[in-house]
Amino acid sequence: MQTTRTVKIIGGGLAGCEAAYQLLKRGYAVEMFEMRPTTETGAHKTSSLAELVCSNSLKSVDPETASGLLKDELKQMDCLLLDLAYKAKVEAGGALAVDRQLFSRLIEDKLFSYNNFKLIRQEVKALPDEPTVICTGPLTSESLSKAFREKFGSGFYFFDAIAPIVSGIDMHHAFWGGRYGKGGDYLNLFMDKEEYLNFYRNLVTAETVKLKDFEGKEVFEGCMPIEVMAKRGEDAIRFGPLKPVGLSHPETGKKYYAIVQLRKENLKGDCFNMVGFQTNLTFKEQKRVFSLIPALHDAEFLRYGVMHKNTYINAPKILDKGFRLKGDTPVYIGGQLSGVEGYVESIMSGLIAAVNLHRELEGKEAIVPPYTTISGALCAHTTTATSNYQPMNANFGILPHIECKDKKNRKKEYYQRAMCDIMPFAECLNE
Ligand SMILES: Cc1cc2nc3c(=O)[nH]c(=O)nc-3n(C[C@H](O)[C@H](O)[C@H](O)COP(=O)(O)OP(=O)(O)OC[C@H]3O[C@@H](n4cnc5c(N)ncnc54)[C@H](O)[C@@H]3O)c2cc1C
Repeated sequence: MQTTRTVKIIGGGLAGCEAAYQLLKRGYAVEMFEMRPTTETGAHKTSSLAELVCSNSLKSVDPETASGLLKDELKQMDCLLLDLAYKAKVEAGGALAVDRQLFSRLIEDKLFSYNNFKLIRQEVKALPDEPTVICTGPLTSESLSKAFREKFGSGFYFFDAIAPIVSGIDMHHAFWGGRYGKGGDYLNLFMDKEEYLNFYRNLVTAETVKLKDFEGKEVFEGCMPIEVMAKRGEDAIRFGPLKPVGLSHPETGKKYYAIVQLRKENLKGDCFNMVGFQTNLTFKEQKRVFSLIPALHDAEFLRYGVMHKNTYINAPKILDKGFRLKGDTPVYIGGQLSGVEGYVESIMSGLIAAVNLHRELEGKEAIVPPYTTISGALCAHTTTATSNYQPMNANFGILPHIECKDKKNRKKEYYQRAMCDIMPFAECLNE
């Protein structure tokens, strides 16, 4: 009688859940180790699998954006988490935003529907010596990070920040609508010049949390704290997250000096993420300063913003092209720990790492998507040696250039080439 082979997954986040599904559907018994809630990460708030640690948005679905293209590539690869994200969707204009509790629940239901799935609530402190996919993410526990450093001399981090979630908006200072009339899914909190300047002055002088090893370390540009951006000049955030252009009051047509946008956090639509408001202010200061935005004067802060370490390995040095750790044991790295950056990017790398673990156990060679696709270009990034290796998110800059007379068509051409190339790859995944 043939026995079912067992594989381990360390980390029940986005990449770990996708990896688990890919292995379960290929007939493996999966033991998943998740340290929450016994050991906390400092940013996750629940013990749910695949908890979205910050924004509830999986970014754009527009095929002419790199995130939109990545999603369309993943659809071809039977990506569970993307499919369930669409099932947990909340309206957010051109973005795929989800009800985070529903999203996690759908994923848990699916994984537990396999008899061969076992969840073990335990922190793993040492590198494994059995077939495993490690998906412990940017907040990998200190013991496991240490094990990486000791074995490979590798392990880096930069700093990242989370935006607050609020409810109880004063609708006398807000209106629904999307920029340039596109989509009506954002709640726009408006300010006149005086209100903005008052908010601004308090923001740049507010007290921040002291991070002892912060000095001299990088902040990921896409997740820059609002107070850091504000210190670049009085108008810096009015050209950023508080940009008023393309927004006017739907009833009066009035335009405003600054606008804060809120995105729905749940299907009920009564709690909101403050778009672009990643912050490292103390909780007390967040309440004081953000309540100066007129629509938030009585708001409840359901979750405060926080700043966190974001751990990743030196992938070009210690991984091979299929996300396999150098060494005798088939151990693969998926998710943000491998040096991709972003929710969907992490899901993609969890998927590829799991497929390649399966292929190795079957005696087959590793495969990665063609480098003309966003997923392939991201995989290539993790194996490209550079002296200053940094995590990478989906963007058109990582694709091989297309010579195109009409620049406006270039993104379309990137899309068409990628979709054409991903199809045969997706078929190989069924081998
Ligand atoms: C603070 C912060 C905010 C972010 N915000 C965004 C955002 O808004 N949008 C975006 O696209 N990306 C964001 N990211 C980046 C990244 O996309 C997410 O962190 C994403 O969740 C990464 O997926 P993952 O599966 O690699 O890790 P995670 O989803 O974090 O999953 C890792 C899991 O491993 C567990 N774990 C850790 N160590 C151990 C251990 N030793 N043993 C057992 N379990 C362990 C953790 O508890 C966790 O559940 C953010 C990252 C951070 C740190």
